[in-house]
Amino acid sequence: MSSSIDIERLLAPRVLEIETSGIRRAWALATSCVDPINLSIGQPDFPVPDELKMAAINAIDNDHNGYTQTNGDAKLLCSIEHKLAKDIGWSFGEDSGISTMVTSGTAGALALACLALLGPSDEIIIPDPYFVIYPTLARIAEAKSVLCSTYPDFRMTAEKIEPLITSKTKAVLLNSPGNPTGAVLTSNEVEAVVKLCQQHGILLISDEIYDEFIFPPCSHASSGSFSQDVLIIRGYSKTYGCTGWRLGYAAGPSRLIDEMSKLQQQTFVCAPSALQRAVINAYEVDLKPMISRFSARRDMVVDALGDVAELTIPEGAFYAFPRVPERLGMSGSDFIEMAAKQEVLLIQGNVFSTKDTHFRISFAASNDRLEKGLSILRSLMV
Ligand code: PMP
Repeated sequence: MSSSIDIERLLAPRVLEIETSGIRRAWALATSCVDPINLSIGQPDFPVPDELKMAAINAIDNDHNGYTQTNGDAKLLCSIEHKLAKDIGWSFGEDSGISTMVTSGTAGALALACLALLGPSDEIIIPDPYFVIYPTLARIAEAKSVLCSTYPDFRMTAEKIEPLITSKTKAVLLNSPGNPTGAVLTSNEVEAVVKLCQQHGILLISDEIYDEFIFPPCSHASSGSFSQDVLIIRGYSKTYGCTGWRLGYAAGPSRLIDEMSKLQQQTFVCAPSALQRAVINAYEVDLKPMISRFSARRDMVVDALGDVAELTIPEGAFYAFPRVPERLGMSGSDFIEMAAKQEVLLIQGNVFSTKDTHFRISFAASNDRLEKGLSILRSLMV
């Protein structure tokens, strides 16, 4: 059957402007591999903890399969509020001026926040390198993302942000621990960013999806530890290996959460209900074994590549973002192509940045695959 309408003509500029070619190029390289060592995936390699699996099964069996309130299952909201009280001392009383909502993944919370805050001619300051969807979300909201270059140490500090603030700036988006760099800001650095945003009357959005994956002796500082004038966005995807469950949450000024909730109600309605039930007790899971596993793998990356490439030691998440050695005379894209020929899959820097000088390694892979992959990468660099 042939089509009689020209869909191309009907598509909105908002989708046509979205670039997917960078990641597609990385994935296309995988098709020619026989047994690829995949160091490109942003997803933990451990299964969902049994307690959570059982809770999901029980929720479905017990008929928790309908819509929840737009803001989320009441018990889950309670569990999140407890967690935030414990982590950053927030208390969600009636007159607190803050509230929380469950979203379809961290990405869902970021999308709702951008749509609730940004419009044509507004600006949002995002890090460069950035998590891929940040510039896209700004574009969907018809706003401009202003890139804050964090090279070479990948720290998005108040000093780097301040010169970028204009009368059009509505928000600053911070991501610590960061994707793709693994950089973690110190508590002094976070506090300075919080103060800067307050001084300028702009909102700090803190994407803390990797908050639990911090490698000792480093510790995580949440922007929420310093103020309630921030929107904290966290999720379950990475922490509990359940990226497909699509669960995240946002917490911050009630006025903003109410507007985000309005948008959620008229679009995605609510996050998956049975799965919301499944994570109510997630905070009881002992994450120490996973954290020490990632920490050991981080050490493997540093040991293998630290002396052959410029590498900022990741202090959190499960990524490293080394620079392609200049002596090779290659871009990040060239390098990942060469690595793919040796069966190692990576993502080139320009997927996350205006620059194509680096590449991302995900060390959420088994120790033996990672070891093999790193030894191949090392051999390509020496
Ligand atoms: N923020 C960052 C920094 C991420 O790396 C990711 C996933 N790769 C997300 C948000 C979105 O995660 P999800 O929607 O699965 O919670």
